[in-house]
Amino acid sequence: MKVLVINCGSSSLKYQLIDSDTEAVLAKGLCERIGIDGRLVYQKDGCDKEITEAPMPTHKEAIQMVLDALTNEKTGAVASLKEIDAVGHRVVHGGEKFASSVLINDEVLKAIEECSDLAPLHNPANLIGINVCAELMPGLPNVAVFDTAFHQTMPEKAYMYGLPYEYYEEDKVRRYGFHGTSHSFVSKEIAEFLGMDINNSKIIVCHLGNGASISAVNNGKCVDTSMGLTPLAGLVMGTRCGDIDPAIIEFVANKRGMTLAETMAVMNKKSGVFGLSGGLSSDFRDLEEGANAGNKKAQIALDVFCYNVVKTVGAYVAALNGVDAIAFTAGIGENAATVREKIVENLGYLGITLDAEKNKLRGENMKISTEDSKVAVCVIPTNEELAICRETVALAK
Ligand code: ADP
Repeated sequence: MKVLVINCGSSSLKYQLIDSDTEAVLAKGLCERIGIDGRLVYQKDGCDKEITEAPMPTHKEAIQMVLDALTNEKTGAVASLKEIDAVGHRVVHGGEKFASSVLINDEVLKAIEECSDLAPLHNPANLIGINVCAELMPGLPNVAVFDTAFHQTMPEKAYMYGLPYEYYEEDKVRRYGFHGTSHSFVSKEIAEFLGMDINNSKIIVCHLGNGASISAVNNGKCVDTSMGLTPLAGLVMGTRCGDIDPAIIEFVANKRGMTLAETMAVMNKKSGVFGLSGGLSSDFRDLEEGANAGNKKAQIALDVFCYNVVKTVGAYVAALNGVDAIAFTAGIGENAATVREKIVENLGYLGITLDAEKNKLRGENMKISTEDSKVAVCVIPTNEELAICRETVALAK
């Protein structure tokens, strides 16, 4: 089957066309600045990137341009749209309604809309993508793959907050967790890579990208994760503050004369390693360069980030009552060898020693702990698009 994977944001859209039989990416790219001016990036497998500036007043024009590029006579990846068998959509919030991916129908659309108050920036954009695809490619199966679904197996004791119970009952305030597609993919992948039986395994997945979260996976099922009602919780991230004393919000707002909305914008967009580094950067390459050049704040940002990961891994070893394998994934987890080194340094209590040479390698599944380590630590590149493609095939076949 040929599956179009769509990840629709409010002003951007990422896409991949994947051949599910070979799992090869036939073409990929993104639309940026939708509703502002418009820019299409298109790359057919084995060819250079093509960039087209063209007006995209809405997502409809953007998706139409993607479909035109995919079927272009000279540079297209398919001869016609008839070759595309299904569309898989990333949907951010499935609330408690969706514990797995689903084939989209009117009822599902309504339920996704009902989850919009939990993700007001994301779910409406995801819905636009679904509706436009249904309009432009009538009759094709559309599948929704939720960021929250994998975490729906968490027990109450892990997802309930210490708040009045009616906040949960009436407003659904609880821990949901995000990056679920990645945590699911990587936990399966590391079990397979290490030849472990996933049904008899304790795995911790560290998804460390610009957004970062860790999950505890027992026998293939998520039992805890660091993000919460929203992706603001948990680790210190690129620009998000992660867990803080909640009273800081009122304190800072009062001190600085900021509204609640302004304060929350700082917590989301100007905090994390970006804020800690005095606004130097949210990118770990810049932070490492800064720290190496003696920038103290850049060093503090890196130290706080690594310490947060170490503490959360420790908490999840406790939650799982042990651990067999730990996976590093996403932009930082896959590429920042010195960050991994710093984290693994503090995992000696688990009987883990880093294989310094293997830790320097990049690009594929790799065990970076020594053979005699009691717990295997691996780098496992994530592939959310492939995971969405697999889910789509399973439901659309
Ligand atoms: P997201 O999908 O959340 O936007 P990614 O998983 O793509 O994030 O991760 C992006 C981050 O990965 C960058 O901001 C940067 O901090 C980090 N990163 C990417 N490449 C490298 C590298 N070679 N060395 C260190 N950090 C890197």
